[in-house]
Amino acid sequence: MALTKLDQLYRQVILDEAYHPRHHGTLAAPTHQVTVRNPSCGDVLTLALEVKDGVIKDAAFSGSGCTISQASGSLMTDRIIGQTPQHVLNLVATFSDLVIDGQVKDEAALGDAAILKGVHQFPARVKCATLAWKAAAQALTKGAEHD
Ligand code: ZN
Repeated sequence: MALTKLDQLYRQVILDEAYHPRHHGTLAAPTHQVTVRNPSCGDVLTLALEVKDGVIKDAAFSGSGCTISQASGSLMTDRIIGQTPQHVLNLVATFSDLVIDGQVKDEAALGDAAILKGVHQFPARVKCATLAWKAAAQALTKGAEHD
């Protein structure tokens, strides 16, 4: 399969995200934290969120996994900071549709994370791409740290 220039650009951006991830690490005072796993690839990802005044004030992820899962963690955390939990749940659904189908109506809402849409050509990697987003949904729906 020949790579178009666009594919090459996407690859470069994805590699940059994976090797120099943003928001990688932990938070001093998370309000939500979950660990999710993708057994089919061996990816493990812990997501910590600080939700305050109805907004995701900060987010950080840690763990280990493949390039796609790490890049997705970087892009996801960067996208959700400053958003409301409800908006993030919508973004998670949009992202999931995008990487499964390769296109979605409100792709622009995803910002930079839309570069991962090429993953739809590799069905075995879809779970790698959606892992971080599933963590966000899980954390926001049932991941309060004190329960
Ligand atoms: Zn993976």
